[in-house]
Amino acid sequence: MIFNQIFDAINIGLVIIDSDLKVHKWNRWMEVHSGIAPEEITGTHIFETFPGLNTPKFLRSCKSVFSFGNFCFFSQKLHHYLFPFKSTSIFDPEFEYMQQNCAMGPLRDENNVIRRLFIYVQDVTEVAVYEQKLVEMNLKDGLTGIYNRRFLETKLNEEFKRGKRYSRDFSLVMFDIDFFKKVNDKYGHQCGDFILKSVASKISSIIRNVDYLARYGGEEFCCLLPETDINGAIQAAERFRMAIMQQENNFDGLIVRITISLGVTELSEDTDSPGMLLKKADQALYRAKNEGRNRVVAIT
Ligand code: GH3
Ligand code: MG
Ligand code: MG
Repeated sequence: MIFNQIFDAINIGLVIIDSDLKVHKWNRWMEVHSGIAPEEITGTHIFETFPGLNTPKFLRSCKSVFSFGNFCFFSQKLHHYLFPFKSTSIFDPEFEYMQQNCAMGPLRDENNVIRRLFIYVQDVTEVAVYEQKLVEMNLKDGLTGIYNRRFLETKLNEEFKRGKRYSRDFSLVMFDIDFFKKVNDKYGHQCGDFILKSVASKISSIIRNVDYLARYGGEEFCCLLPETDINGAIQAAERFRMAIMQQENNFDGLIVRITISLGVTELSEDTDSPGMLLKKADQALYRAKNEGRNRVVAIT
């Protein structure tokens, strides 16, 4: 009696199923989140209502509970959820379904024989959302939403090693907004911020999804292009340049046009560090500025 009350009052999902995988018990929490009453589901095969559970991992886990009395875990990190319940948390725009940490284990009868197993379901959506936000804050630039310099440098190291080890093509485009100080001075800092966001979003829409775009500093950006040689990178840089030059940035009815200068380089035999790639791209960018801006310069 007391246990029944706890079973229904506890703030986690509890399900008991028998060795035919038929539901024996379904607590109140499961009812609230699934919309399915215990009397509807009791006695039915769990896959009838939750066909998504019919996976090799789930079946293997049930078998190992019944055969060996093992406990099995289904972590949110690996599986996201077992039971597809719509999320009720107000902080979770990222997750359509409630994120769950689940476990199953044996229930023995008076003769110590495992006749049933229990599954518990814990809602960890808010923790998962919080974790995701922290990870994002660490990798992304707050203003533009693209990657930040820290991420870029980490990725550059990885791609540098991969490129060297497997002799893969890999290029870097560094670009900087021309006369950006004038934009701030003439139209205000808010307009400057708007331009930065608009450049980031335009270039993001052009690159392939294997490329990485990052804000490297104030109005300076970097784009890593894996599997791309210098010619491909120059073409990409030209596309960036044209797209930005043609873009009408509409800031509260005011059309602001800008241009960018770009420096391009590629991983070559004599590149001996990721820093050297950055340095070459920076030198190319410097030359693009000196040669009149709104242009692409490549250094190999
Ligand atoms: P150049 O063509 O040689 O690149 O000239 P520039 O004016 O773009 O370059 P400069 O380095 O003289 O000025 C960069 C300006 O970018 C100065 C700084 O105030 C502005 N800036 C840097 N970060 C931000 C930001 O987050 N928001 C805004 N609005 N402005 C920024
Ligand atoms: Mg500039
Ligand atoms: Mg600059």
